[in-house]
Amino acid sequence: MTSVDTTIQRIRLTGAPADELCTTDLVEAPWNFDTVPGYGPGSSMGDVIPVGSPRQGQLPAEYRTASPEELDRRIRAAKAELGERLVILGHHYQRDEIIEYADFVGDSFQLANAAQTVPNAEAIVFCGVHFMAETADVLARDGQAVILPNLAAGCSMADMADIDSVTECWEQLEALYGTEPDADGRVPVIPVTYMNSSAALKGFCGAHGGIVCTSSNAKAVLEWAFERGQRVLFFPDQHLGRNTAKAMGVPLELMPLWNPLKPLGGNEEQHLHDARVLLWHGFCSVHRRFTTAQIDQARAEHPGVRVIVHPECPQPVVDAADEAGSTDYILKAVAAAAEPTTFAIGTEINMVTRLAAQYPQHTIFCLDPVICPCSTMYRIHPGYLAWVLEAFVRGEVLNRITVDEGVTATAKLALERMLAARPAG
Ligand code: SF4
Repeated sequence: MTSVDTTIQRIRLTGAPADELCTTDLVEAPWNFDTVPGYGPGSSMGDVIPVGSPRQGQLPAEYRTASPEELDRRIRAAKAELGERLVILGHHYQRDEIIEYADFVGDSFQLANAAQTVPNAEAIVFCGVHFMAETADVLARDGQAVILPNLAAGCSMADMADIDSVTECWEQLEALYGTEPDADGRVPVIPVTYMNSSAALKGFCGAHGGIVCTSSNAKAVLEWAFERGQRVLFFPDQHLGRNTAKAMGVPLELMPLWNPLKPLGGNEEQHLHDARVLLWHGFCSVHRRFTTAQIDQARAEHPGVRVIVHPECPQPVVDAADEAGSTDYILKAVAAAAEPTTFAIGTEINMVTRLAAQYPQHTIFCLDPVICPCSTMYRIHPGYLAWVLEAFVRGEVLNRITVDEGVTATAKLALERMLAARPAG
């Protein structure tokens, strides 16, 4: 007997056909995967799981069998008892049943910053995915514990670039380009990692003159990088890199894709010499589902529709949309619409359905007719939240995410460079 998983059911009740789910995993309770061999951070619809990933053990039965009402009562009681000793952060892509307990709701970097505004909290419970909890730990004060309620909440995109394959790529690039700056003082290549990456890769960037970016500030970060380097190595998300550089006027033919499984990433030497941006072969399994055919259909069915997509979508989709921007951009665009408007949004379904509920004066729907939440965000369920909170009340810290001290220093440097590169406003 398991408690009811209400997110998918609610989505169905709001009009989606019951059979239109992108994976049958989503009708199962997340704890059915707790002991699946190999299941860990990043496992998403068959992705390879990095060796050494921490594993989520079986959630105790009392949390698996509790009704939603009982979990609600227990979470609220634990929160009330802990007061300001603990803060709960909720990413926009989390289900409503988690967001309702969050002290802060935002994107990954907003939440990492929010964690810094509560220096007195002994613990930060990050209802998001693994790389976000790592970033919070990098920025947290000494002694503050960062807790990820379910260790299986990884990010398949983040896992598409790991420290070994990026280091190997870097060595090949150094052998090809050398390390000497040009006459303008620009080094051959600057590494740029998207926030959606492991702390080890943020540390790599910090240690190699590089920087972190988010989907909100990718343009400012690329400008920073081009001032200092002849080229950029951008990982793990090819789409954010391509969309941002294209909007800045970089021709597509100067953006080769780097396949880490092939020598020189599968490229000719001359192509790499000419390159301005080397794009890692990574993508988000949620955002790559959006297509230009969906946009055509939305325009045919809803004349005048305003199509906004996330820049993790493929470049033809971004080109066909009216606008592209981060989760924060999308939220602000909807909030700022003065007249009743029809929006077709290309991002994760939980955020889209919440926007639709929040702004009933507008018609808001997801571009993808198939219901496809981020399957790793989905691993955070109230059962896991109740489990870690009640343990903390008893003095136990479960599922703590700790970044190595050596990595923390250089990862922080790359994050600080990003903050300095961020344009005002
Ligand atoms: S939506 Fe995509 S990028 Fe974001 S956590 Fe899920 S898999 Fe990762």
